[in-house]
Amino acid sequence: MTRDPRYDILFEPVQIGPVTAPNRFYQVPHCNGMGALRPHMVATMRGIKAEGGWGVVNTEYCSIHPSSDDLPHAYASLWDQADIKAHALMTEKVHEHGALAGVELWAGGAGSANLLTREVALGVTSMPHVGGHPFQTRAMDSKDIRDLRRWHREAALRAREAGFDIVYIYATHTYLLSQFLSPHHNHRSDEYGGSVENRVRLVRELIEETKDAVGDTCAVAVRMSADDGTGTPDQPVSEDRREMFEILAELPDLWDVNIHNYEHEMGVSRFVPEASLENTMSYVKSITSKPVVSVGRFTSPDTMVSQVRRGIMDFVGAARPSIADPFIPRKINEGREDEIRECIGCNICYTGDSLSVPIRCTQNPTMGEEWRRGWHPERIQAKSSDATVLVVGAGPAGLEATRALGQRGYNVFLAESSTELGGRVTRECRLPGLAEWGRVRDYRVQRIQTMPNVDIFLDNHLGAEDALSIGADHIVVATGSTWRADGFGRYHKSPCLNLGPSEQIFTPDDILMGRVPQGKVLVFDDDHYYMGSVLAETLVEQGADVCFVTSENLVSAWGVMTDEQHQAQQRLIQLGIEIITSHGLDEYDGSNARLGCVYSGQSKVVTADAIVLVTARTPVDSLYREIIARLESASPESAPVPTVNKIGDCDAPAIIAAAVYAGHRYARELGADGVHSDVGRQDKVFVLD
Ligand code: ADP
Ligand code: SF4
Repeated sequence: MTRDPRYDILFEPVQIGPVTAPNRFYQVPHCNGMGALRPHMVATMRGIKAEGGWGVVNTEYCSIHPSSDDLPHAYASLWDQADIKAHALMTEKVHEHGALAGVELWAGGAGSANLLTREVALGVTSMPHVGGHPFQTRAMDSKDIRDLRRWHREAALRAREAGFDIVYIYATHTYLLSQFLSPHHNHRSDEYGGSVENRVRLVRELIEETKDAVGDTCAVAVRMSADDGTGTPDQPVSEDRREMFEILAELPDLWDVNIHNYEHEMGVSRFVPEASLENTMSYVKSITSKPVVSVGRFTSPDTMVSQVRRGIMDFVGAARPSIADPFIPRKINEGREDEIRECIGCNICYTGDSLSVPIRCTQNPTMGEEWRRGWHPERIQAKSSDATVLVVGAGPAGLEATRALGQRGYNVFLAESSTELGGRVTRECRLPGLAEWGRVRDYRVQRIQTMPNVDIFLDNHLGAEDALSIGADHIVVATGSTWRADGFGRYHKSPCLNLGPSEQIFTPDDILMGRVPQGKVLVFDDDHYYMGSVLAETLVEQGADVCFVTSENLVSAWGVMTDEQHQAQQRLIQLGIEIITSHGLDEYDGSNARLGCVYSGQSKVVTADAIVLVTARTPVDSLYREIIARLESASPESAPVPTVNKIGDCDAPAIIAAAVYAGHRYARELGADGVHSDVGRQDKVFVLD
């Protein structure tokens, strides 16, 4: 297939100072939970982005010196020769595919607690650590500033030695340089504080010195936010910030522009739509003749073209879209845009950084597994036999198993009880703000529909006898889970017996299936991720008067990992929902719910016409168990015995990303002898040869 000429503009080369990007697809720096700790994993992952057609591929934040250490979050570093060697793994792989490699040099300031190096963090002023650690920075004196400039220069030289083509000055995301720019944080009275000219001085010096050090062969980029958080929704950009861009306009070779509010910049799709930075950052191009890149969770090539044609940006920047589908550029180039695996904006990828574990992605189960397991996002080994496979259940686990098995060439039968595909994803994407989650289903269904070797049977509830009578060589059960109605979960270690009339007890499944409580409704969230707060929002939309009770200290506490907690709590407050944190639901008599404080045990009573229990789930594994029981009781001479496995929520209820991963892994590992277990290899920072 050939490229649609409408998209030609995306494939134009663009010069960035002394280097030229082969096209306009630009993977901006993004964290991945691997950093300096897992160099092979990160290098292979980045190399695959270049293979997928991204013209520029950047690192994550890369510390210039031990005074910027962000552990337990996994950052990259360029402190010494070992780091040069580690980064060369990445730059070689990126260059193999004709892309440019960029490095985001990072000085942490009050964003680095230095828990590993125990260096005192340097700050524009002496201020508390922005992440809440009980440390303050030392206000930098003129020697500290001279040291920082030298470290930055030396790191730039090491970056060039490692093979990078683009070197960043990183002046946003609340780190050190952005604090120098800030009218709030910068309280200095020397030549680095006060006027705009003074606050911008350090960034200007670093641009000039980086250019001087490596600018003959490397482009120098500046990452800076278009606003400083002091504006209003109508006028997000202050005069102060605009002036800064005007002063620096022509100094760097490239502007990487984002916005001050990180939660918005990389907001989940529940709260932030595609292309939502434009309103704030679009003015930058009118100030500079240098190429501009920005982000916006772009997955539609038409939106990308629109951004370029309307002069908003020269490069289409992406972190999450390039994670969900590292092959977006190649697919557009080859006229295969209908094959794009679109990011759903769930931010599970971000949890890799939050938890300092290798990045995971809901849509792309190979993300983070490129080196460890040798998984490629587009290629998979051909089938190893003519065996047939029956997949039972078409939720994310069953759909991904079917898709990947189909891609391998197996003959697959997919049976689904209901009349629609997608399982929980289809139900949940109808909840407020979660529409994009339907892309998990859509991508897979679209691919499966092109596969003549896959047959789908909707409205087919299989029992053990039915499943075995199909005669498949392998059966994989992906029948999901149901929410519990007995209170069991984190707060109640065993079922709670005092929960009142069952017709006044609801679970998320009830609401998802249209059985919705009215009147005064108490939502008890003992799950702590999105479901409780989304359901509270749903119920308000449907006219209920909601009281939200959680056994955690925050609404949607695990949403801290996906950077949506703040917005989730804000939403409930804006909706006028009464919020009671740190309480469990002890009993309910049909009119009153008694709550217990998790700290003191003290009770409080809340009236409620109904309660919704968001606690834990029960695996729907009866089909699996019945098939196994039948096979065990069958006589040895009976028909050949299929392999039987269970995957996804029916194995262990979890997030959607885990179900997709389980389906993918099953399909990858299915061999002539059935599924085997492969735990993958371990990356070790010092094993570089
Ligand atoms: P997962 O997240 O593990 O993919 P889901 O709950 O999303 O799980 O999907 C499970 C799917 O399995 C649902 O669509 C459900 O209708 C289907 N299902 C459950 N039991 C059977 C069965 N016995 N036969 C066919 N389909 C089933
Ligand atoms: Fe997008 Fe979610 Fe994948 Fe992140 S984890 S890239 S937000 S689909």
